[in-house]
Amino acid sequence: MQTDILITGLRTRAVNVPLQYPVKTSVGVVATSPLVLIDLETNKGVVGHAYVFTYTPLALKPVQCMVDELASVVCGQPLAPYVIEQTLQARFRLVGNTGLIRMASAGLDMAAWDAYAKVLGAPLVEVLGGKARPLSAYDSHSMDGEELAVRRAVNAAESGYKAIKTKIGYATLAEDINVIRAIRKAVGDSVEIMVDYNQGLTVPEAIRRGQAVAAEGVSWIEEPTLQHDYEGHGKIRQALSVPIQMGENWFGAEEMALALSAQACDLCMPDLMKIGGVSGWLRARALAERHSLPMSSHIFQEFSAHVLAVSPTCHWLEQMDLAGPVVDSALTFKDGKAIIGDAPGAGIAWKQDAVEKYSV
Ligand SMILES: [Mg+2]
Repeated sequence: MQTDILITGLRTRAVNVPLQYPVKTSVGVVATSPLVLIDLETNKGVVGHAYVFTYTPLALKPVQCMVDELASVVCGQPLAPYVIEQTLQARFRLVGNTGLIRMASAGLDMAAWDAYAKVLGAPLVEVLGGKARPLSAYDSHSMDGEELAVRRAVNAAESGYKAIKTKIGYATLAEDINVIRAIRKAVGDSVEIMVDYNQGLTVPEAIRRGQAVAAEGVSWIEEPTLQHDYEGHGKIRQALSVPIQMGENWFGAEEMALALSAQACDLCMPDLMKIGGVSGWLRARALAERHSLPMSSHIFQEFSAHVLAVSPTCHWLEQMDLAGPVVDSALTFKDGKAIIGDAPGAGIAWKQDAVEKYSV
């Protein structure tokens, strides 16, 4: 059926959108959200939408250019996400399918899956063989300082979230502990608190701080040290009683496999873009199942909800809305649950006025 649907165009737009709360981490600030918006056009009028997040505006134009270049590979080809993904993997094997290339390919993969699901007239989760169901979602915050951290935690708890994440890695361990205790005091024992060091500590410092942070009853410690140091994560994990979380920086399931071989983590949270889009997630999902690792998502909440709903070890969906100013989404949040809407595909549409306003 889909073999007579051909890809006829690939359009991109670069935007840099404001954030209500800049993403402050122990190693740097994401002040705005640089996004490449992707439209994959077909001869049946269906258009697949996806976006990729480039972390820094410095990478915005290069990633946009990279996606644009992919048009020569897919235009005129059938709308078949698996075939497209295999074609791109083969095309980039020699240069290395990582970094900006992987980000661009993942964006195209997501747009292809969105278009494919729209052709079938079903939400992506159903095209993947699943059924929409409410997913546990946590509200994801920044390194906000005590006052804002408490305010955001209280807002989240009042909105019904049963878990929140805060970024730590302040100048001293005492400040880390103060923020955690202030949040705990404000939201009580019934709300889980996760913490994220964003790679900010050395291994011995991560063990020193981790022991104190674990005693505060946090649900996980995320990326305590450099993300590529799987052995270091393994050492920290052995020394601590609290689960170690990582995965947002794995480029492809092949890096996830290396981390799991090194027993680097207790929990995993692949980033839908870096892991390689929907197709990459499906591979990561199998690895998580094989190792019985609870699997959470990282940003990209609109698409992530669909793939988490078909992941056997589904854990938490991260609520961090980096595209909200330019994206209308069928995904809603209620009482700490993410609710997948009925819209076909991933359920996203562009807010055209805002796209023009924030266009780069
Ligand atoms: Mg993180």
